[in-house]
Amino acid sequence: MEFPIVQRATPGRYLLRGLLSCGPCGELLIPSFSSSGRRYYGCPRRQCPHPWVPAEQTEQTVWAHVASTYAPAARDIPPEQRQALLTSVLARVSIGVGLADLHYQWR
Ligand SMILES: [Zn+2]
Repeated sequence: MEFPIVQRATPGRYLLRGLLSCGPCGELLIPSFSSSGRRYYGCPRRQCPHPWVPAEQTEQTVWAHVASTYAPAARDIPPEQRQALLTSVLARVSIGVGLADLHYQWR
């Protein structure tokens, strides 16, 4: 088990930056990475019991959901343009205890 370190990641490959919020407390989750370079989103509240969210799986799950909602328009969008699409259709995605507990707030 590796523990994420609280270090703010540099801009880049975080598809859900500014979109993903903590179910329990409503704070925006912060893109971070572990000491081994694995990407996470984490709640900024130190007391929050919310587990760190693995970035890769969460992004894939959210993208698959949005892509199926907006298919076929979303199908041909290259990865570097996905963030723009997500921020144009989604106001917020809140995540509860796990990846099965995602709540989409559409614009
Ligand atoms: Zn929280």
